[in-house]
Amino acid sequence: MTTPSSTPSAGPSVGFDPRHDAYVDESTVRNELTRVFQVCHECRRCESYCTTFPSLFELIERRDDHDAGRLTPLDQDLVVDSCVQCNLCSASCPYTPALHELQVDVPRLVLRAKAMQHATGITSWRSKVVARSFGHADLIGWTGSAASGLANRVVSAAPGSFVRRLVARITGVSANRRLRLYRAERFTTWFDNRPRVLIGNPQGAVTVFPTCLVEYRNTAIGADLVKVYERNGIECSTSSAGCCGAPSLHAGDLDRFAKIAKRNVKALASEARSGTDIVVPQPGCGAILRSAYVDHVPAKMRLDAELVAARTYDASEYLMRLHRADDTALDTDFRGETFDRVTSVGSGHLTDRHAEFDSRDLLRLAGARVEQIRGTSGIETPWGLRADNDAVADELAERLARRIATTSPDAVAADGDFANAAVSEHLDIEALHPMQIVARAYGISEHARRDHKR
Ligand code: SF4
Ligand code: SF4
Repeated sequence: MTTPSSTPSAGPSVGFDPRHDAYVDESTVRNELTRVFQVCHECRRCESYCTTFPSLFELIERRDDHDAGRLTPLDQDLVVDSCVQCNLCSASCPYTPALHELQVDVPRLVLRAKAMQHATGITSWRSKVVARSFGHADLIGWTGSAASGLANRVVSAAPGSFVRRLVARITGVSANRRLRLYRAERFTTWFDNRPRVLIGNPQGAVTVFPTCLVEYRNTAIGADLVKVYERNGIECSTSSAGCCGAPSLHAGDLDRFAKIAKRNVKALASEARSGTDIVVPQPGCGAILRSAYVDHVPAKMRLDAELVAARTYDASEYLMRLHRADDTALDTDFRGETFDRVTSVGSGHLTDRHAEFDSRDLLRLAGARVEQIRGTSGIETPWGLRADNDAVADELAERLARRIATTSPDAVAADGDFANAAVSEHLDIEALHPMQIVARAYGISEHARRDHKR
């Protein structure tokens, strides 16, 4: 790794402000891609994180002078399209806007480039249709749950089968990924129908933003989270906000994302003002609430978006704050079932707030010997499940599974359930959300009545 000598940016106000006129201007974006790609090529620190950097470096090194300025627009778009928004690079980059005048933030620049592709017609009609359908995650999830019998016949068809390939052609959802089943009883329905829980001496109050994955598919994560939180004296309610909008943002559909951001900030800010913090059990979605809404809501809603960002926590992060604070305490009386060795997969979405190791530390308190690794399965949010991400996700998930296998764990714990699902395609091992493992360790888990394999 060498220290890059490339030109500093003109300033982040243009680079990362979607309201700026130049945000989606093609020549401005391409110049910025050139500048940042040159910095990354001189630095090379992130070469092992994903397929994006090796592809970029290979394209640059095809030219004798190693000048990123000689990449064609097609070369640039290939690099941009391979980024899965894992944030591993920006989490460890010493040249981010907060740290250095070079102002490098590759995932945010990729979001800008995707928005430029969408606005200038580079994105194909087919990709726009797929993005639109992924962008209606609540409608799809609600329908899947309401008709779970039929939907699950499709979802549970063998990866690569005729049915899955047909569905992939129609919807753009990968034919090869293992998909979680839809649950007839949604997470919020389970929450509303269960017996009322009275908490004597509350230590906190949260609204659970379940994410579309937990609301419609892996509802056991949400149920275990609520049980673990209530055992620790945290009053729970559920958010009226819908899907975070990651698929629209990642596809570059800024109009749709802005509508979602406005709707969700209104609901979440009102919930936060009622005195609750916001807990999100999927780090990719939590990052949208913390980082993206502020830039995409109208100026008059910015304070509300900042309030939402400040009050949003990851599931393990909130519990570890409880454990570390002087005036609150985590119940460490774990008498249930524990795994001996757990490999925890740290998320790049939690590094910037120093929460990357909170799941590891929580699982250690629950009695497991935990090894922490970093990596991405190539699927960070539902948008990663699209068919044209297959090649990248295959390679990254396989790579992650190989690294996990070297640690010989009894279970894998990734905060992102898409990583757990991807790992279980490659390894015959339980891959669970940390809240599921902690609930087991307390002996209060939902796992007896749930199928964790899918
Ligand atoms: S993202 Fe930052 S740390 Fe990574 S290669 Fe680029 S300049 Fe280096
Ligand atoms: S966000 Fe992840 S996939 Fe994208 S360039 Fe950075 S490390 Fe690679």
